[in-house]
Amino acid sequence: MQHIPYGRQDITQADVDAVLTVLQSDFLTQGPKVPAFEHAVASYCGTKHALAVNSATSALHIACLALDLGPGDWLWTSPITFVATANCALYCGAKVDFVDIDFRTYNLCPQALERKLEQAEREGKLPKVVVPIHLCGQPCDMKAIHSLAVRYGFKIIEDASHAIGGRYKGKPIGNCEYSDITVFSFHPVKIITTAEGGMALTNSAELASKMSLFRSHGITRDPAQMTHKTDGPWYYQQIELGYNYRMTELQGALGVSQMERLDAYVTRRHQLARRYDELLAKLPVTTPWQHPDSYSGLHLYPIRLQLDKITKGHRQVFESLREQGIGVNLHYIPVHSQPFYQRMGFKSADFPQAQAYYREAISLPMFATLTDVQQDAVIRILAEVLE
Ligand SMILES: *Cc1c(COP(=O)(O)O)cnc(C)c1O
Repeated sequence: MQHIPYGRQDITQADVDAVLTVLQSDFLTQGPKVPAFEHAVASYCGTKHALAVNSATSALHIACLALDLGPGDWLWTSPITFVATANCALYCGAKVDFVDIDFRTYNLCPQALERKLEQAEREGKLPKVVVPIHLCGQPCDMKAIHSLAVRYGFKIIEDASHAIGGRYKGKPIGNCEYSDITVFSFHPVKIITTAEGGMALTNSAELASKMSLFRSHGITRDPAQMTHKTDGPWYYQQIELGYNYRMTELQGALGVSQMERLDAYVTRRHQLARRYDELLAKLPVTTPWQHPDSYSGLHLYPIRLQLDKITKGHRQVFESLREQGIGVNLHYIPVHSQPFYQRMGFKSADFPQAQAYYREAISLPMFATLTDVQQDAVIRILAEVLE
């Protein structure tokens, strides 16, 4: 039986050659490839600074640290995300709260955010950082969120793990026009990959410098950052408590090579999405709505089952698809309903739109090398299962 995963990487001979060349070179880490990858992404997005790290989770962590998130502070995010988006606040000793999603885009809802901010202001519990997630690659309503940031004084980290190659109001996601920092992931299921890997982008020299320290042990070789004159050519200083979150040269080379095909990947994902939209139109499912301001990276293609129109349940449909070789998935289990978060007092019913989405959503296969024939098989099997 065929197996069609929900997502997978595309590795070409050019990628293999790029990685092998590094493997046989002088530098496996801290050579020229990681800066070249940073440069490629920064210039693609039109952003001043880019810091490559070993995962998006690490990028979120150093982003929070650079924004001075710490004990007593709050970070707010969407419950429909991967757990790392919320966990990064806890790494810093800060507290997490959630804002419900918009029922059409499944992104953090600006109206719900505004209502929650009004209440938080009365209670003296305003967030220091808000992290909108561009779910599936579709950008959030950043203009609205940014104007709330100006009014209420919080910082914004865009979790754009799904969204490299996408655009918001015609401009590249990652350009940080409406945020302080944007984070990308290069995990193999995402749009481009470096195996593990992530990046933090910013237009602020100060934030870039801080993130650079946190990425590498809090160590600097820059005389301007040192407390006194250098002791000699060997000298460096540790001036913060940082981590080893560096990306390797092998990953950097793979990233540079993958960037060459980014636009082609996203174009192909749009073709596939259009075919899904058309071919699923008559089935009892809701296809993902696209805001006119957005050109999504289309990392994911989640459908929502119209459960009142079918006899099977959500889990039954999901299991039948898996049994027939369609590697569907569910993005995501609402973070606040995870046992770890329930122990902090969150209740599943706290965010009703997120909960409703979770009860109906199924991510169909979506990746650049998915063929039309494979896609037709997905649609045929889905139609049979829903019958
Ligand atoms: C994948 C993902 C992450 C974590 O990325 P890693 O590179 O695996 O650490 C964070 N947030 C979102 C929304 C993701 O999809």
